[in-house]
Amino acid sequence: MVGDVPVGGGAPVSVQSMTVTRTADHEATLQQIYDLAMAGADIVRCTCNEIEAAEGLARIVPRSPVPIVADIHHQYRMALAALEAGVHCLRLNPGNIRKPEHIRVVASEARDRGVPIRIGVNGGSLHPDLYEKHGGRVTPEAMVESALEEIGYFAEVGFDLIKISVKASSVPIMIEAYRQLADATDHPLHLGVTEAGPPPAGLLKSTAGIATLLAEGIGDTIRYSLTADPVEEARAGRQLLESLGLRERRNIDLIACPSCGRAEIDVVAVAEEAMSAFAEREIPLQVAIMGCVVNGPGEARDADLGIAAGRGRGHLFIKGQNAAVVAEDEMVDALVEWAEFIHEHGADAALARVDTERAAREAERDRQGLLVEQGDDANDAGTRIEKIRSRIA
Ligand code: SF4
Repeated sequence: MVGDVPVGGGAPVSVQSMTVTRTADHEATLQQIYDLAMAGADIVRCTCNEIEAAEGLARIVPRSPVPIVADIHHQYRMALAALEAGVHCLRLNPGNIRKPEHIRVVASEARDRGVPIRIGVNGGSLHPDLYEKHGGRVTPEAMVESALEEIGYFAEVGFDLIKISVKASSVPIMIEAYRQLADATDHPLHLGVTEAGPPPAGLLKSTAGIATLLAEGIGDTIRYSLTADPVEEARAGRQLLESLGLRERRNIDLIACPSCGRAEIDVVAVAEEAMSAFAEREIPLQVAIMGCVVNGPGEARDADLGIAAGRGRGHLFIKGQNAAVVAEDEMVDALVEWAEFIHEHGADAALARVDTERAAREAERDRQGLLVEQGDDANDAGTRIEKIRSRIA
C-alpha cells in the first residue's frame, strides 16, 4: 500500500507524477497535486531536497487528495525528515545514497513506521563502481544489479515493503532491464522512461517502453517523465492505462477519422474543438467525429455516440443508429449535450427520444447526394491508377 493505494499483487496499475514546484511552497505544491489528481494521478511524488521541503511535506501530506512519495537524493537525513513529515512512501536512488549504514538506518525507520520505499535506479546516476564493472556503460544488467544490492541492504534489517524502478532514457535498455528485474524479483515494479523529453517525442518514447512492458504483464505503477507541465504526464499515464483496458475509462475516448477527399468538414479543427469541449467533463463514452456521412457512421458504428458531416449539416448517431440532424456549426455542442444525456440516462433512453427512421432517411439523402456529387471515388484513386497503368504500359 502507498497510503490508500494498493500496489502490486494484482491491484490495478496506478499512475504517478511529480510536482515541479518548490516543496517548501506548500500552497503552490498542493495546488499542483490537486491538478495532477484531477488529471489522473493516483500517487504524487515531491522532492525533499532541503529541510524546508520536509517542513512543507508536513503541511502537504494531511491535505493531499492522493498519497505522497518523498523523492530523496544524496542526503539520507532528508529521508528521515520526510518520514517524520508523515509521507506515504520514500523514493531512494541507490546511485547517490551509497553508504550501506545510511541505507540501513532509513530502512529501519521506514520498517518501524510501515512506510514503503521505492528503490529508484536511474541509468544516468548509476553507482560508479557498477558503471565501471559493466564496461563503462549503462546496461540492463548493471541497473538490475544495483537494485538487487539495495534490496540486500534492506533485507539485513528485515524490510521488504519495496517497489523498484530501473529507468533509462534508452527505451530498449529500459525494457530489457525491467524484463530481467521481473525475472529476478517478485516485488512490485514502477515503470518509466527517464528524461523522455518534451512531447510528442517524449510521449512516444514513454509509451513505447511502458506499454510494451504492461502488455507483457510487467509493471504495477507508471510515470511519464515529460519535459512539460506535469498535468500532461498524469493525463498521458491515465490515457495509456485506459487504452490498454487496464483501468476503467474515466474520460471521453474521442475517435475521429483521418479525413480524406470526401471530408465535408475540417475534421482536425472539429476534433480539437470537441477535445476542449469535453476536457473538463468526466464522461466515459467513446465519441466519434467522422468527416462524411458516406462512410462515417458505418466506420464508427461501435462508438457510443458520433457525428458525421453531410452537405452543411451533421448526422448524429448513437450506437450506430441515426438519431438526429444538426446544423454544421452546432455539431460539437450537440455531441456534448447528447453525451451528457447518454452518460446520465443510457443510450436506449436517448434513442427513445428521437425518430431514428426519419434521421436515417435524412442521412441516406445526404449520402446519396454526396455520392452523386463526388462519385464513388472521391479520393481520385481511379485517376491515379489510370496514370500508373499508362506509365507502365
Ligand atoms: S471516407 Fe469519410 S469518414 Fe472515411 S476518412 Fe474520408 S471523410 Fe472520414
